[in-house]
Amino acid sequence: MSVEVHVLASGSDGNCAIVRYENSAIMVDSGLSFKSTKSLMAVNGIDENELKGILVTHEHIDHIRSVQIVSKKLNLPIICNQNTFDASHFDGNMHERIFMMSPFDIAGMSVVALPTSHDAAEPCAYAIDTGKKKILIATDMGLVTYQVEHALQEADIALIESNYDSEMLETGPYPYILKRRIDSDVGHLCNTVSGEVIKRTITNHQRKIFLAHLSKKNNTPDIARETVSRISGIKRMNLDCLEFKGDTRIIKE
Ligand SMILES: [Zn+2]
Ligand SMILES: [Zn+2]
Repeated sequence: MSVEVHVLASGSDGNCAIVRYENSAIMVDSGLSFKSTKSLMAVNGIDENELKGILVTHEHIDHIRSVQIVSKKLNLPIICNQNTFDASHFDGNMHERIFMMSPFDIAGMSVVALPTSHDAAEPCAYAIDTGKKKILIATDMGLVTYQVEHALQEADIALIESNYDSEMLETGPYPYILKRRIDSDVGHLCNTVSGEVIKRTITNHQRKIFLAHLSKKNNTPDIARETVSRISGIKRMNLDCLEFKGDTRIIKE
């Protein structure tokens, strides 16, 4: 059976992905409203009973907006490290505490949290292994840690941040201080650096690359694909991303 990664949303309006394998599923971040999350799951044919837990990457609102309510309504554990849990101000009783670089099993998959560099309490990416296929979900990172780079090399499906075009950020409408935050080591990944790490990690095995967390103000799907394609050598048509507000994807492998 194939693994499916459902990208329900990706970007500063909200982030939510669901990894599904053999009728079990894990949600990674829940940054949409509960209502939108439920309806997108229904549209994508995901039965809420398949979900076994919510992995949280970090406490920014675009990642946690409905974590608490999804957890309560669907009776799902909130799986994250202690610092993220505390910084998110979640209620205590549904927490399953995890530790960076310590693999654990959920929904029949092996999961490990990888440290990322971002202005949050203890941010992470997640590498998920079904036993047959490996998935990486890595966004919100000012630089690529070696743990993320290693996981990117091994991944069969990789959601990797390609947040902004450097020129658009510099000439765009954001205030100076916000521009500096975004392009700092604890901010977001630009198209160029995303393209470089994708290139560095190319091996013989085929990966499906999804460009994630694109900025609406400082990037476009076209520019992200063009830049990453030019730098990495991967054909544009093989670089997927969300195209418009409300767009979703199902990536199968
Ligand atoms: Zn974010
Ligand atoms: Zn963030």
